[in-house]
Amino acid sequence: MPIRILPARLANQIAAGEVVERPASVVKELVENSLDAGATRIEVDIEKGGAKLIRIRDNGGGIGKDELTLALSRHATSKVSSLEDLEAILSLGFRGEALASISSVSRLVLTSRPAEQEQAWQAMAEGRDMAVQLQPASHPPGTTVEVRDLFFNTPARRRFMRTEKTEFGHIDEVLRRIALSRFEVDMILRHNGKPVRQYRAGRLPSQHDKRLAAVCGPAFVASALKFDSEHHGLRLWGWLAPPSAARNQPDLQYTYVNGRMMRDKLLNHAVRQAYGDRLPAEGHGAFVLYLELDAHEVDVNVHPAKHEVRFHQARLVHDFIYQVLHQTLAEEHGAPPVAAGE
Ligand code: ADP
Ligand code: MG
Repeated sequence: MPIRILPARLANQIAAGEVVERPASVVKELVENSLDAGATRIEVDIEKGGAKLIRIRDNGGGIGKDELTLALSRHATSKVSSLEDLEAILSLGFRGEALASISSVSRLVLTSRPAEQEQAWQAMAEGRDMAVQLQPASHPPGTTVEVRDLFFNTPARRRFMRTEKTEFGHIDEVLRRIALSRFEVDMILRHNGKPVRQYRAGRLPSQHDKRLAAVCGPAFVASALKFDSEHHGLRLWGWLAPPSAARNQPDLQYTYVNGRMMRDKLLNHAVRQAYGDRLPAEGHGAFVLYLELDAHEVDVNVHPAKHEVRFHQARLVHDFIYQVLHQTLAEEHGAPPVAAGE
């Protein structure tokens, strides 16, 4: 075959293979976009486990009419413009791929209105070249992204979708994780028209506990040890279940790095080491932990779905987490506290 540039839709579908695994991945990308847009309220409507409809509505900054077409194009982002930006990412998104990828494997409609624009506009990308059609619409300030018939044109992916219940379970879990990353944002989840979760915004510790209980259960909140420590520009805070409240599944382990949810080997290893042999043989720790550090100290551009990070000073980060949690657990047993770093 001769060498050819791929048509836009096909190129986007190939990129979608990396980030759009199932309906829950769409929800993650779109809710992260809403958070990056400064939304304080995000509504997620799902029909048929996301196979039929995923609709995310936010009250964030919106996208101007002139930028709607770009927003749907691949490699188009308002979040980075230089290598320096990439080295200190503060936003959740930065690859400029989510909207283009998702719209290449579904029927996506983007409707948006910045507060200063009188009229909302609606955009969708059509055909193999994904030419964008625009039309006026009615919408309050903010953005709605509607994704219908996910994978209708990629049968291989569609076959991998599980039952409505399973797919909705994954969506629910993604939103739980995100709900714990932004206590100050209202989030609502509905399935087939029925409200399923309502995470209310709040800055007070009592409101934090309420949301924590909504996600992790009241038993976790009642038993969890709170910690908050800083050392050499690193801050670690959160909640840790004592060994007596160990679980038989590793199902209550939430870790965040600079507000981004993570499944990180280094973090998990440090936590496991802190529990040490305090955990029962088949037991798993339960924790919600937030690591905050200078964005220059961590590389988030490791994996397209951004589940992993790389720390420049991995050893330092690991030891800090170990120290803080080890001390938290030791204090629980009434042992004299050991100062971090000693
Ligand atoms: P990325 O998030 O990596 O920049 P996306 O494809 O997810 O790439 O989004 C492309 C661009 O569209 C974003 O950079 C942003 O400017 C705009 N955008 C997407 N979703 C929203 C939203 N909900 N509110 C405001 N702007 C948005
Ligand atoms: Mg994005």
